[in-house]
Amino acid sequence: MWLGIVTLFPDMFEALTREGVFGRAVASGVVNIDFYNPRDYTTDRHRTVDDRPYGGGAGMVMKVEPLQGAVMAAKARAPAGTPVILLSPQGQAFSQAEVSSHLDSVGLILVCGRYEGVDERFVRRWVDLEWSVGDYVLSGGELPAMVVMDAIARHLPGTLGNQLSALDESYLDATLDYPHYTRPETLASEKIPPQLLSGDHGQVAKYRRREALKRTLNRRPELLTTMTFGELDRELLLEIFADRQPE
Ligand code: SAM
Repeated sequence: MWLGIVTLFPDMFEALTREGVFGRAVASGVVNIDFYNPRDYTTDRHRTVDDRPYGGGAGMVMKVEPLQGAVMAAKARAPAGTPVILLSPQGQAFSQAEVSSHLDSVGLILVCGRYEGVDERFVRRWVDLEWSVGDYVLSGGELPAMVVMDAIARHLPGTLGNQLSALDESYLDATLDYPHYTRPETLASEKIPPQLLSGDHGQVAKYRRREALKRTLNRRPELLTTMTFGELDRELLLEIFADRQPE
């Protein structure tokens, strides 16, 4: 997947693109990234990218022309059909549904705002979608862009060592993940659940599904309202309700 990042601070992306799962995706060519700095598309001596808001008030606003220059350069390089996405606290909530629906995209252009935000005319002319990473305000769109990049890249074939691990995670089917355990088997007299030691794959799978459903019910019950339950899930939920105790 090709990613064009429009940002005043491309250095912020260095750690993400060098380390861990995302670093491997870049090194192996699963993800290709180009950066476009609006400052490189200014025409004045001071390379101005922001100005005071019309109507007054605190803070500065990102000017249209440098952003437009950066997005035009990104579009010239991008595969056909690549959407322009602005990171914005006013955008639609970025969730696993957005991840899934963009896994087949050939590319994404992610625009990172700064200051009080970007001139609305830039949004109207150039932006296809606005995504928010949560109901709070950050100082810039770079961290949200990295959230989006990482969430998508881990599902691209060839990114994770074991592709199955991306199929078994929270939110993929509206349930939270089951609890995980590793060595030692006993920690200060606390043992791991016996089902996980049984060697019986069916029993392990059933135990994990039950725990995933129980955890979702206790922590995020609203997620279950969007789910269609199979026979096993119904059976497990009845069991959970029968001996329900808070985690
Ligand atoms: N004045 C804007 C408002 O209240 O809606 C906030 C601007 S914020 C300080 C600067 C930039 O950070 C935004 O243009 C956006 O790109 C990014 N940003 C901040 N919070 C965000 C969030 N929750 N999700 C996505 N982007 C965010």
